[in-house]
Amino acid sequence: MGLFDKFKELTKKVSEVEYNIYHEKHDYLEIYERNIELEKEISERTNELNAANRRMFTLQHIWEMMNSSTPLENIMEAIVNSTQGELGYMHCVIIRKCKDEDGDFLRILAQSSDALIARLNNIIGSPAIQTRRLNYNTESVFADTLRQNKIIQTKDIDLSLKAVLPELDEKTVKEVLSNQPIKSVIVIPLFTRGNAFGWFCVFSSREELASTETDFLGLFAKQIEMSITIADLFQAVRDQAVTDSLTGLYNRRFFEEALEKEVQRADRLKQPFSVIGIDLDFLKKINDTYGHAYGDIAIKTIADVLKANARSVDVPARIGGEEFDVLLPGISSEGAMAAAERIRKTIEETKIDTIGHITGSLGVATFFEHTENIEELLELTDQAMYASKRNGRNRVTLAKPITETSWQEIAVNTFIDILSKNRVPMAKDLSKELCLKLQNNNEPAKETLYAVADMLNKLYNPMHESGIIKNKVLMAVTLAKRFDLPKEDIDNLRVAILLYDIGNLMLPTDLLQKATPLTVEEREKIKHHPVIAAQEILKPISYVQDILPIIEHHHENWDGSGYPAKISKNDIPITSQIILIIDEYFALIEARPYRSKLSSQDALEIIKTDSGKKWNNTLVKEFISLVEHDIV
Ligand code: GH3
Ligand code: MG
Repeated sequence: MGLFDKFKELTKKVSEVEYNIYHEKHDYLEIYERNIELEKEISERTNELNAANRRMFTLQHIWEMMNSSTPLENIMEAIVNSTQGELGYMHCVIIRKCKDEDGDFLRILAQSSDALIARLNNIIGSPAIQTRRLNYNTESVFADTLRQNKIIQTKDIDLSLKAVLPELDEKTVKEVLSNQPIKSVIVIPLFTRGNAFGWFCVFSSREELASTETDFLGLFAKQIEMSITIADLFQAVRDQAVTDSLTGLYNRRFFEEALEKEVQRADRLKQPFSVIGIDLDFLKKINDTYGHAYGDIAIKTIADVLKANARSVDVPARIGGEEFDVLLPGISSEGAMAAAERIRKTIEETKIDTIGHITGSLGVATFFEHTENIEELLELTDQAMYASKRNGRNRVTLAKPITETSWQEIAVNTFIDILSKNRVPMAKDLSKELCLKLQNNNEPAKETLYAVADMLNKLYNPMHESGIIKNKVLMAVTLAKRFDLPKEDIDNLRVAILLYDIGNLMLPTDLLQKATPLTVEEREKIKHHPVIAAQEILKPISYVQDILPIIEHHHENWDGSGYPAKISKNDIPITSQIILIIDEYFALIEARPYRSKLSSQDALEIIKTDSGKKWNNTLVKEFISLVEHDIV
């Protein structure tokens, strides 16, 4: 081959290479550019995926809360806070449309806690927005969304704010919105079971609203609607429940309704009905020894016995933890006592795994026979049941007709209630000892009551002399008879004398036993004792309700200068006036840390000087004649 040919061949090869290089470069550039586009798309899709994931997680979280027993308010709080925080809105709120006699209004159910709302509350001052009654404007974006049933985005933020808070002036609205990057409010209507419920609103820093965002917010609204519906359904189910889940017996609500119906039936047919009250003996001990689960088994055992012994018309119910009542329509006390005895015996004979045998204490009361009032009937059943406890448990007691409940019984039960339920602070040993003394009742009930009241008095007044209470009662009763008070008032007075100073047990001992004169504040503190006795200690005890006013007013003066109500003259119960004069007299003839005891004559002189001021003249005269003639 000649040189020329060689050159030609080489040039051809070079062009071939050049051609290849050119084309490959082109391909390469194409691939390179495509790669860049793909990467961009991948990154966009990843972002979308992340956003979708976040939304999914938020939805999942809310879904889980909805399936738990979390209260509706907490679910709503979670919804607004996660929408605001995780999805990047400035503020989220759920608003309810309400109605009352003054018309439609709005109330905030849940709102995200964020800087925006903190700032708003700061500017509008009290009351905070979440507690305000907000205005419902039928021309507002809120009304529009409900009418059109669609999501509406508005950039008129101040108009929306003014629609709900028309009381704000122009300046305040401007201040609230100044320097805030809010660009729009998105209002989503909420409906539950076809009815307008309210709105889910989000405050966005973006002007535009993408269709994916609308879809998503719609989805969220559906979750809110669903949680409201579920909560409503739960409530309806709870409201309709008539049985107790542990035992399957009727619950308290059903029992009370049945009782009311039975009263009407009894009145109509003039037929009695009875109630048996049952309380498990020593359940605390069973719980402590074998554990709560066995306590529950004991409760279920009683429930099964009640079910097995019930006729189809009877209503056996679990009233509280270990308290049961059975309603026996058409049954007199005789029949009810027989039924109760059968129940007692069956409980005693039933053997329970691990625990062995348990017992119950029962009380029976009968409508018409004992009372014609439902509350009293239940109270009497309870009292009879407690009598069974007092007398050794595992027994049945029939109620006493209400009129026969003596003042001694009322007083004994009241003291036992105060001591056993620790209504006043006291050493455990002492309260137990006093309780036993009251329960055993070896001596006449009166003597026991006087002794217990004396002991309680000594707790805050070590100088109290035993026997004084008895003298006070005798003197009070004699005085009351001179004023021709009815027996009922006299009995109330007897119980009140035993209890009127019990409020002192709630005051610091060093205050009551102070040897030097009291300061003004200290005296004020002591003045609380009548109210403490009546309103704190005795109020929960139903059978001493008539005694509360007597005790509460035992430091009111005739001229209105006393305490706590500063009532005067005949507004003060006469029984309270009797207590005041007797209390003063006995305080004077008893020693005090700051003075020695006075003679009876000196004490009467002091009482006389306050005649017409602390007490009325007739009362003083009667009282003096009583003491001077040594009648008591
Ligand atoms: P008593 O014979 O005087 O009635 O003695 P008690 O221990 O049964 O009575 P008390 O009223 O002092 O205590 C009742 C106890 O019953 C206290 C409480 O812990 C327990 N209890 C109440 N409800 C339930 C329950 O549903 N399950 C269980 N296991 N225990 C309960
Ligand atoms: Mg019990």
